[in-house]
Amino acid sequence: MSLVQYNHSLQPLSHVDWTPTRAAGLARLEAFLPQAGPAYARTRNTDLGPQDRSNVSALSPWLARRILTEEEVGRRVLQVHGFVKAEKFIQEVYWRSYWKGWLELRPQVLTRFNSDRLALKRLEADDADLAHRLAQARAGQTGIACFDAWVEELTTLGWLHNHARMWFASIWIFTLQLPWQLGADFFFKHLMDADVASNTLSWRWVAGLHTKGKHYVARASNIEAHTQGRFNPVGQLNETALPLAEPFLETGPGQLPLAEMCLERRVGLLLTADDLHPHSINIPAKVVGAAVLGSAIIGPNDGPKNCFLRRAEQDACARMQADFDVDTQVRASVEDLVAWATSLNVREIVTPYAPVGPTGWQLADVQAALTSHGIRLVRLRRAWDSKTWPLATGGFFKLKEKLPKLVAEQAGR
Ligand SMILES: Cc1cc2nc3c(=O)[nH]c(=O)nc-3n(C[C@H](O)[C@H](O)[C@H](O)COP(=O)(O)OP(=O)(O)OC[C@H]3O[C@@H](n4cnc5c(N)ncnc54)[C@H](O)[C@@H]3O)c2cc1C
Repeated sequence: MSLVQYNHSLQPLSHVDWTPTRAAGLARLEAFLPQAGPAYARTRNTDLGPQDRSNVSALSPWLARRILTEEEVGRRVLQVHGFVKAEKFIQEVYWRSYWKGWLELRPQVLTRFNSDRLALKRLEADDADLAHRLAQARAGQTGIACFDAWVEELTTLGWLHNHARMWFASIWIFTLQLPWQLGADFFFKHLMDADVASNTLSWRWVAGLHTKGKHYVARASNIEAHTQGRFNPVGQLNETALPLAEPFLETGPGQLPLAEMCLERRVGLLLTADDLHPHSINIPAKVVGAAVLGSAIIGPNDGPKNCFLRRAEQDACARMQADFDVDTQVRASVEDLVAWATSLNVREIVTPYAPVGPTGWQLADVQAALTSHGIRLVRLRRAWDSKTWPLATGGFFKLKEKLPKLVAEQAGR
């Protein structure tokens, strides 16, 4: 792995350069490494504010798009600290894989979320009181200073500290008594690291729907302590709320689809916004053409999230062009993509496996269109995902127990 040297004199660790390139992600990783051991475990829960992100990695936008992979971030941290000292950080990286696996094994949870979300949007159009309360919350005009500040941070910067996300979701659900599905929708539209699994399931966890009956209640004293006194919403929060409940849904884990294999010697390579690092995918064929499928615009077109995505896609094109020596462009529509694929004169297009969510649905359309032109879409699942996702059959703690073994196996590969 070639690592970009991080110049500490130019940028202190407190400042995050959110440039959506692999080079900027690697630079942030290198800068954060000394902090990823015991210091992370001790300090990570404090939200120091947008001017100081020195106690957390802030790598989530790069990880969510797989501009950096979980595997390389984990490996680098383990090289520096070893498992015992870096356990907390490594656990957090595995939370991301746990959520992904959990949802992949239970896509019906996302189906219900989406139909509820759309029904609530229709209700919002008809219910003036709900519409007014939602508008106030989304505009950061609730009068709860911390919440209003986080709305501003979310919509202008596109990122929030983990603890702020937990407090935000809890206040949205239990104090403002707004539907959690529309809170998750608001986050998804603005976060640079927007990820269907981490976002939807974390909102469910806060609401008390993931671990039945266990919800997360934001308390003024906790906010004051972990924002170092920047906020203290004493008397403004509902601190006695009960967890939400929902109609029964069978969530017994299903099976992952079987991993697909590439059969041809010449293939086209298609990347998506879910996975923008082709070099760590094992492609057993010659890549004769490459493209990035332009991601669906969800959220404000010129907001931080969509600007990050578009520039990340361009960065991936430039990397593929240089490394595979093939002309690479972002293909904005299925028609454009099919025209590119047919021009390559190949029988297979390989793409990293995209889990359930907007990219997975886009790929289903691409697959149908390619099939009608006699081209097979081969979704290659990463070894990391094949190994971790099936472990999300129960709570995270079941996976956590297996971490030392998993980490040792992954280090040995
Ligand atoms: C309501 C809510 C919504 C969220 N929505 C998203 C989302 O859309 N996308 C997203 O990537 N994360 C989401 N998270 C998880 C978490 O808040 C972010 O991953 C984390 O804040 C990113 O900051 P960091 O990169 O500094 O993390 P660090 O603390 O430095 O951790 C390193 C990496 O581990 C992963 N990670 C850390 N904590 C979690 C977690 N609790 N769940 C899953 N992965 C984690 C991230 O990839 C992160 O970059 C959400 C959490 C909540 C409570």
